[in-house]
Order: sequence, then structure tokens, then C-alpha cells
Amino acid sequence: MGEIKTGLLIIGAGPGGLSAAIYARRAGLDFEIVEEKMSGGQIINTESVENYPGIRKLPGFELSQKLSDHCKDFGIEVKEFFSIDSIERNGEKSKNNEHSFKCTGADRVVFTNSLIIATGASPSRLNVEGEKELIGKGISFCATCDGALFRDKEVAVIGGGDTALAEAIFLSKLVKKVYLIHRRDELRACNMLQIRAKENCDNLEFLWNSEVEKFIGKERLEEILVRNNKEDRVYPLKVEGVFLYVGLIPNSQIVSGLVDLDNKGFIITGPTMETSETGIFAIGDVRNTPLRQVVTAVSDGAIASMYADKFLLDIV
Ligand code: NAP
Repeated sequence: MGEIKTGLLIIGAGPGGLSAAIYARRAGLDFEIVEEKMSGGQIINTESVENYPGIRKLPGFELSQKLSDHCKDFGIEVKEFFSIDSIERNGEKSKNNEHSFKCTGADRVVFTNSLIIATGASPSRLNVEGEKELIGKGISFCATCDGALFRDKEVAVIGGGDTALAEAIFLSKLVKKVYLIHRRDELRACNMLQIRAKENCDNLEFLWNSEVEKFIGKERLEEILVRNNKEDRVYPLKVEGVFLYVGLIPNSQIVSGLVDLDNKGFIITGPTMETSETGIFAIGDVRNTPLRQVVTAVSDGAIASMYADKFLLDIV
């Protein structure tokens, strides 16, 4: 099994992790950055990012490419397809305990003095009948990736947040009809997206106070059962695709038991991104932040690297 020793290990190479790496390099830290998939994070699948100050409008993939290129300019090499499966304290919790965390992956172990957890979050599921069986067979979590498969067909988007609205607007340009199914009669999404969806998308119909009860289909999705929770009425709706945007599950499993999590599993951090465990910082979507945006993730990354630097100076 290969062994790496470092001062700081950044786990995750989305915008937060890449920003932390840039700040760590500029601070002269001895660090490694690993990513279980490709660099880029969730924005790779975003059609367009319009709210990152200074970048007026750019496909998410191109913004993540710019962040990766920026890292390369500083000679930072992200170790991609490198997963960390467990993290444990390596010996006593004490000052001057070098390489005090042992991080184990499939065929490698990383010993490190400190950690920045930047593992992000994954899409939630509804956990209703038929969902598990039909994921990838009509149920998708990515309109940018799969939208073209439903050209001129009828689809539903579930959720009332920013992601649901942005993806419904994107899909409305491709498909015959989009039903936006939301469990309340008020959207959570920002005002600008609400206006765009309501005023610019003729083929977008809102189904308010509505929830999906069941996904039906043999080989592929054929229809869904929708419950109107105000009228307590259940009816079938024929759609060939459903895009699920009902929130996020934090990818915090590797530190559960090691750091404090909130009741939804997000890592609790202080203003310097420190967790309850000295030497471990958390940034971006995996932490209990009030706002999950690219701009907040990159800001978290900068703060975490600065305080990881202070922490490392203190222990050597
Ligand atoms: P979100 O803001 O948590 O919204 C999730 C939506 O799903 C809510 O409308 C929620 O309903 C609904 N929902 C949750 N559980 C449900 C269930 N079991 N059944 C039916 N509906 C359910 O998630 P998100 O839209 O993915 O956004 C995540 C974060 O990324 C947010 O901080 C968001 O601002 C950010 N983001 C920003 C942008 C942008 O700036 N352009 C784009 C995408 C995402 P309720 O409203 O009733 O709770």
C-alpha cells in the first residue's frame, strides 16, 4: 500500500477545494489535494453560472476549467480518482503530534497534520416506490447531462429551489412540456429565477401543493402518481423523464464520529472553518453554511487554508 506524508490534506476538488489549494500554495504549505472523481465539483453539470462576481456568464464546466487551470499555473496537481474512505486519529491528540491523522483509501494511506474537508453534497432522493428502480431509466439528477434525451417529450422537475427552477428553465428550451412539481404553493428559489420561469417559459406548468407518490414503468419511466396535498387527490401524470432537485445530502460520512455534525449531517464549523476536531476544517456544501454558492465555497476555501496555516505554524 502506497504511503504519503503531508502537512495538509485537502479532500475534494470542487471550487472550495481548488480555492483552498491556491491559498495553501501561496502560503507555502506542504499539502496534497485529492478528488475521488474528476476535478470541478457540482458546477460541472450547471448550464450557466451568472452570479460569480467578475465572471458575467459562463457554463459551469468552463468555470471549473478556469479554476483547474488557475491551480495548474501554481503547479498544483490534483490527485484525481483518489478516494479517501476513512479518517482516524493517528496517536494521541497533542501538540507536536506529527501526522496526527491517518486517511485510508483503496490502495493508499495519507498521514497528515491537518485536513480540509471539501467533499460537497449529493442530490437527495424522494424515497418513494419505483424511484430506486427507475434512476437512470427516466429519472435523472442532471438536466444538462440528460436533457437532450427528452427532446420534444414531456418531463417533470421536482422541487422549488434554485436548482429546480434553473434546470426547469433549461429544459423548457429542449422539451415539449415541463411540469414543475412543488410540495408548497411558494417557491424557495431566488426572485430572478422565479420571474424567468414564470414569464419566459410558455411550456412550463407549475403543479402547486403537489408531491410524487410513485414512479411507474417497466423498462423505463412511463408515468408518475401525483398527490395534491391540499385537495388530497391522487392522479397519474404521463411523463417520460423526471428530474429530481429536492435538496442535498452532505458527503460527510468519512468524518462522522470524528467531528460534530448537525441534524442533517452537515459539518458544524466556526467562522475560521474549524470543526469540533482540532486540525480538521470543512468548507463549501458539506458544512452547515447558510448559503451554498460557488462564491461562498471559494471564500470558505481561502479562510480554511489561512487558518490551517496558522494551525500548522502552531504545532511545529
Ligand atoms: P434547496 O434549496 O434545499 O431546495 C430543495 C427544494 O426541494 C425545496 O423547494 C424543497 O421544498 C424541496 N424538497 C425537499 N425535500 C422534498 C421532498 N421530500 N419532497 C418534495 N420536495 C422536497 O436545494 P437546491 O435547489 O438544490 O439548492 C441547494 C443550494 O444550492 C442552495 O443553497 C441554493 O441556493 C444553491 N444553488 C444556487 C444556484 C444559483 O445561485 N443559481 C443554483 C443552484 C443551487 P420546500 O421549499 O418546501 O422546503
